[in-house]
Amino acid sequence: MRICVYGAASPTIDPKYIEAVEKMGKEMVSRGHSLVFGGGGNGLMGAAARGVRAAGGHIIGVIPKFFDEEKVEAICDFCDELIQPNTMRERKQIMEDNADAFIVVPGGIGTFEEFFEILTLKQLCRHNKPIAIYNLNGYYNELHMVLLEAMKKNFIRENCSDLYEITDDLERLFAYVENTDNKAHSVKELKDG
Ligand code: AMP
Repeated sequence: MRICVYGAASPTIDPKYIEAVEKMGKEMVSRGHSLVFGGGGNGLMGAAARGVRAAGGHIIGVIPKFFDEEKVEAICDFCDELIQPNTMRERKQIMEDNADAFIVVPGGIGTFEEFFEILTLKQLCRHNKPIAIYNLNGYYNELHMVLLEAMKKNFIRENCSDLYEITDDLERLFAYVENTDNKAHSVKELKDG
């Protein structure tokens, strides 16, 4: 499978996240997967890419031209393919189009944005690809609580919890991602409005 990994650009996070995501990258390759990601050289984007690279896997990085021109973020320099669109919107579209599944590792605003976009598109039945949150060290506990609370209060249908998996267990993460027998919903089942 082509797995899109969304994750932190920041190089100043605790190294325990870096190590765990490098390991995840290696595991991806040992299970026959390739990587699509935001092309960053630092943080958890860099970690995923280094893990995949160390295990000999294939990497597609997607990073807008202005990242290079304006030195926004370090760019991974060993991608098999580096796609450089003009805009952030194009970047996300290319990442989505080239992925069979999504893994969200800890990250900041950019990662949250990517997660919510892919989740809303699944809720609207624009795709039915697995979305798995790798909840390392409980990083996403609070975010998950926010979603559950919104479900309790009927802002989100409760069955939207079927749209993603959240786990800190690598085996469970991949088992979910690799299960192509995803239940298909209709928009009306997933959304009031
Ligand atoms: P962060 O989680 O904030 O460290 O960002 C992770 C990646 O998402 C970085 O490469 C950001 O540049 C990127 N990013 C931030 N905002 C957006 C956006 N609106 N669309 C696509 N990628 C974004």
